[in-house]
Amino acid sequence: MKEIVVISGKGGTGKTTVAASLSVLAENSVVADCDVDAADLFLILRPEITENHDFYSGKGALIRQKECIKCGLCKELCRFDAIELDKETGSYSVGETSCEGCGVCAYFCPAKAIDFIERLCGERYVSQTRFGDFVHAKLGIGAENSGKLVTVVRENGKKIAEKNQSEYIITDGPPGIGCPVIASITGADAVLIVTEPTLSGMSDLKRVLTLAKHFNIKSFVVVNKWDINHEITNEIEKYAENSGSFVPGRVSISQDVTKAHINGKAVVEYSNGITAQEIKNIWKNITNQL
Ligand code: SF4
Ligand code: SF4
Repeated sequence: MKEIVVISGKGGTGKTTVAASLSVLAENSVVADCDVDAADLFLILRPEITENHDFYSGKGALIRQKECIKCGLCKELCRFDAIELDKETGSYSVGETSCEGCGVCAYFCPAKAIDFIERLCGERYVSQTRFGDFVHAKLGIGAENSGKLVTVVRENGKKIAEKNQSEYIITDGPPGIGCPVIASITGADAVLIVTEPTLSGMSDLKRVLTLAKHFNIKSFVVVNKWDINHEITNEIEKYAENSGSFVPGRVSISQDVTKAHINGKAVVEYSNGITAQEIKNIWKNITNQL
């Protein structure tokens, strides 16, 4: 079983477009959406949710109003300014998104009126799609720790892939190079970096490649909409190859992509045009290298 994680230095480079098509092309696979802040793959795969589980992470303070004596000490002590005073009622409450879970208020509360509870940060799902099993998640509004949620989604995907004896796990990773990306690539067999032919695309690629190198993960680089700028595309590909990456192909600009997404389809499902052909070739070249 091989896990391929599709990533990009930032959002909007066509990462999910490519990931969706690979989900179609990789028969006998499990698809994992680790872009938990913007789970766009959902819109293309149109899954039917079969399981959903709450995701708890970290702890936060909760004031039991009945026992609170309204002394205000918690507000005074909280250095994250997470405790709010309702001036009309004189009651204190904890702002969920600002509480850092340090526990100081609970420790010092004279009335012992503060609980320290696990925080519900989102939900994770197992779904069925027309291409097989799909694992995904949704981070709660304002919730942090998407790195941990990414790890949970990947672990779940791996379990299902092992049970199904799947050949591949296709993971749509988060954008950027932060903690969620690191959580999505560590231990993977390969990353496919999707970038765009602009100067910022080049600098994002450099950062993501450094990350993949650091974790010793095989990398593939694809320039999406390469025909916007031939010169920068050539530069990016040259840089990628000189850094030890493999370039399995390029993806052209095409109206097919937008039309496919409007119809809730991956581009390789929607048409057999140039973009679909290019992505099919990319997949063939990647599998030959794995
Ligand atoms: S320290 Fe305890 S008793 Fe005082 S306001 Fe805060 S929760 Fe209420
Ligand atoms: S746990 Fe820490 S951060 Fe959260 S409200 Fe209490 S003092 Fe503030």
